Amino acid sequence: MDIRRLLRADIDELEEYTPVKPLEVLAAEIGVPVERLVKLDANENLYGAPEAVFTAIAGADLHIYPDPSQTALRKAIASFAGVSPEQVVAGTGADDLIDILLRLTLPEAVVIPTPAFGMYSFLARISQAKPIEVPRGPGFELDVAAVRAAVEESGAKVVFVTSPNNPTGNPLSRAEVEELCALEALIVVDEAYIEFGGETAVPLIAGHPNLVVLRTFSKWAGLAGLRVGYAIATPELAREMMAIKQPYNVSVAADVGARAAIEHRGEVFETVRCIVAERERMSQRLAAFDWLEPLPSAANFVLVRVLGREARSVRDGLRKRGVLIRYYDRPDLANYIRISTGRPEDTDRLIEALHSLEDE
Ligand SMILES: *Cc1c(COP(=O)(O)O)cnc(C)c1O
Repeated sequence: MDIRRLLRADIDELEEYTPVKPLEVLAAEIGVPVERLVKLDANENLYGAPEAVFTAIAGADLHIYPDPSQTALRKAIASFAGVSPEQVVAGTGADDLIDILLRLTLPEAVVIPTPAFGMYSFLARISQAKPIEVPRGPGFELDVAAVRAAVEESGAKVVFVTSPNNPTGNPLSRAEVEELCALEALIVVDEAYIEFGGETAVPLIAGHPNLVVLRTFSKWAGLAGLRVGYAIATPELAREMMAIKQPYNVSVAADVGARAAIEHRGEVFETVRCIVAERERMSQRLAAFDWLEPLPSAANFVLVRVLGREARSVRDGLRKRGVLIRYYDRPDLANYIRISTGRPEDTDRLIEALHSLEDE
């Protein structure tokens, strides 16, 4: 039997999402021990989560199903974010919320200012929505007029924007978000990096029922592997999201782990402060190379323009030296690499590796 006859007709056109590989796999490929790898390719918090998170997870009742209404978690997130629990929906990472919003709206098209986080177009295609890319300006600033034109022309019901943007690092102003909210579309503002800089759009939700803000514990809280994210919206929209989500989307471990991170946020924000300071130090060190041009960033990574060398070969050369960074195989980022901010010792290893590239 030809199993492909049973699959959706567009299966071959769906591009695969290229995820980062597990550490052990990378270490084996490169031929260095895991502890020698400097992982600056996925914007993780290399300080890791506070001990209290691990203690909470160790004590969790894993034989019991999680709470589908997420009562305790939504309450904790709400007080952390300064909203009411009815405005919060938690998910298996922010990615789950993106998917829930697509399934709630079933749009024919979605508008994405690019360069952007790849998950929007990946999940849109799976939901049979056409991703319409609207290029950002020369300094990667949002082109609001072009977004408006794209929405009006296509009738797209959803716009995905990121602030601070991944991979460019620049945030949106409140005024820009307000302009977007005037469009006849659901405006999804992804604030995956808001704890590192930029101005949140959350206060605008009260006046704009078509605004949803996405956040995650993956970046600031060092919990990328636990998979917890959340959306903040009007109670009406949040109710509909709750109604169609997978009832048990947030595991018991993720639920208690995320709440422990909130409870111990003082400790977590200590690492966020270190990362923000380190981002500035790393940018200065990078700018000292005459072939690197780091862009300003409000996130926990820096987009760097590479001059007179191939960005891909810089990525490959660093990789051989055990330093992992992100390279993008797309025309609008042809000469760029993205480097996450780690601890001071990670920056030092990066700079050392860059110097040794120069001697090749
Ligand atoms: C990393 C990232 C996310 C991922 O969130 P998860 O909670 O890990 O699913 C979402 N949006 C952007 C822009 C990101 O860079």
